[in-house]
Amino acid sequence: MSTDIDLRGIGMTSQRTRSRLVERLREQGILSEHVLDVISATPRHALIDEALAHRAYEDTALPIGFNQTISQPYIVARMTEALLADGPVETVLEVGTGSGYQTAILAQLAAKVYTVERIGGLLTRAKERLGAMGYRNIFFRHSDGGLGWPEKGPFDAIIVTASPRIVPEALLDQLADNGRMLVPVGESRQQELLRLVKSGDDIEQTVLESVKFVPLLAGKS
Ligand code: SAH
Repeated sequence: MSTDIDLRGIGMTSQRTRSRLVERLREQGILSEHVLDVISATPRHALIDEALAHRAYEDTALPIGFNQTISQPYIVARMTEALLADGPVETVLEVGTGSGYQTAILAQLAAKVYTVERIGGLLTRAKERLGAMGYRNIFFRHSDGGLGWPEKGPFDAIIVTASPRIVPEALLDQLADNGRMLVPVGESRQQELLRLVKSGDDIEQTVLESVKFVPLLAGKS
């Protein structure tokens, strides 16, 4: 699926640099071979501007315009691994499409990915690029993802890639029974990545690690 983009992108070196990235993620404690395989197969450089493509396989966040960033590969790997830890999921809601990189990873691990972005320019670009890469199981929506996507829920998993101060109630409501949510919660300088598992009316919460995401903002633009 990624071969064409590879060749049109930064060329033959990208598979080698991706393999190096995967080795680094392994050293940092990512254990899921399934997740590592998907990262190894996904052309991150095709989801950022050409001027930055040569830095695509560094383990860092990079600017994607509109004052936003593509998430660091380690964080994408960590969140994806935690999302799938209790077994496969059919439907995932992603809040904060951004570059579409996390979306592309999820599309290879779940049957259907519903992704919501509040910035129209980012959503359009991600939709075009992911379409060109051949994904057919991603559904896009331009709206405030803090409200979820009620018509499509409940979801087996929800991943929030921008940080709210508290977990949005609407997202908890749209999580299926036994569903899991990964969400970075807190103030701008101090956020904790939470893993929530819904079980009837109860929510079991685990703190994974300290993280730094852009804020989850209300409304759309
Ligand atoms: N997963 C993305 C992360 C991008 S940064 C990637 O790796 O590229 C977070 C994204 O969340 C930004 O694009 C930002 O515009 C978006 N965002 C912030 N608040 C939002 C909201 N309420 N609803 C939907 N998207 C939101």
